[in-house]
This record gives sequence, C-alpha cells and structure tokens, in this order.
Amino acid sequence: MSQGINVRGYLSQQELRNAPGYPSQERLARGPIVAIECIEEIPCNPCEQACPQHAIIIGKPITNRPYLDEDKCIGCGLCIPQCPGQAILLIDLTYSQGAASVAFPYEYLPLPKEGQTVRAVNRAGESVCSGTVIKVQNPKKNDQTPVVTVAVQRKYATEVRGILRSRGRESG
Ligand code: SF4
Ligand code: SF4
Repeated sequence: MSQGINVRGYLSQQELRNAPGYPSQERLARGPIVAIECIEEIPCNPCEQACPQHAIIIGKPITNRPYLDEDKCIGCGLCIPQCPGQAILLIDLTYSQGAASVAFPYEYLPLPKEGQTVRAVNRAGESVCSGTVIKVQNPKKNDQTPVVTVAVQRKYATEVRGILRSRGRESG
C-alpha cells in the first residue's frame, strides 16, 4: 500500500505523477487525456475493457496497476464511469484561453446544472477554487455514474478532483 494513502488517506500530486496511469506534463499540455489515480494492486480491470483505443493496459495478472499509453488516449472519457473506484479523471488544459476542464464521476443528488457556479475541491475534499459546470452526462450506459465536467482556472486543473456537493442552491 502506498505511503500516501497510509498517512493521509489520499495521494499527493507527486505520488500520482509517479504512477503508471498518470500522464506526463508534455501530454497534458497537448489536450484532453485521462489521469488514472489508481495505484493499488487490486483485481480489477473494467477500465482496460472500456477503452476502445486500448490506451489502458493491465494485462496479466489482473492485479497489475493500470498503465496509460498516453499517445493512444483520445480523451473520449468513456472509461470514467466504468471505474468502480471512481479513480479516473479527464483533464483538458487546452479547454480555452486561461481555463482548463476537469471531468470526474459524481454520484450525488441533486446533480449540478450546466452553467452553475460551484466550488471545486481537491483530493482531500478541500475547496480549491470556483468553477463552472460545463457538462453533466448521465446516459443509461453510464449505469448510474454521472460524469460532471467543470471549467476552472488552468493553474488548478491538476488539483481539482471534484466539487462540493450541491444542495440545489450552490453558488461560487
Ligand atoms: S478517455 Fe477514452 S481513449 Fe482515453 S483511456 Fe479513457 S476510454 Fe481510452
Ligand atoms: S477500473 Fe478503476 S479501480 Fe479498477 S483498475 Fe481500473 S482504474 Fe483501478
């Protein structure tokens, strides 16, 4: 088990960057790509099966940590709702001038609404910055794991891991 999880209950960005599922800074700068925050050796592979580009590799044994082939990932986001550990994010540092987008699974109700201003939080659940919800996807194939995308200032993009739970009247 990782030292970070033992001590803090969540991983630091440095620990994640050393993980086989985390994209390089160079690839992040080129456009949308997933960050797979899964570093435990567990028997699990829906992410590998979900990727039509074969960009996620676990292979055998099934307890291998997921490896991301960052040149194959096209940033479609199909793998996000398929991960039972909610460990996959989609980061787009090129979303717009000055802003990045971050997509993540969100299984709370009520769902936020597109255009809503929200508080973005980090892996510790601490407020990091305000963000704007730009997409809420909840098709049947997601099997009740909606995916929410928020736009945030680019400098916070790799810190943001979710949003504060909406109580229907969330404001930034
Ligand atoms: S975002 Fe799409 S291409 Fe990239 S790893 Fe996930 S399913 Fe594969
Ligand atoms: S589906 Fe999620 S929890 Fe399972 S191996 Fe892939 S990233 Fe890890």
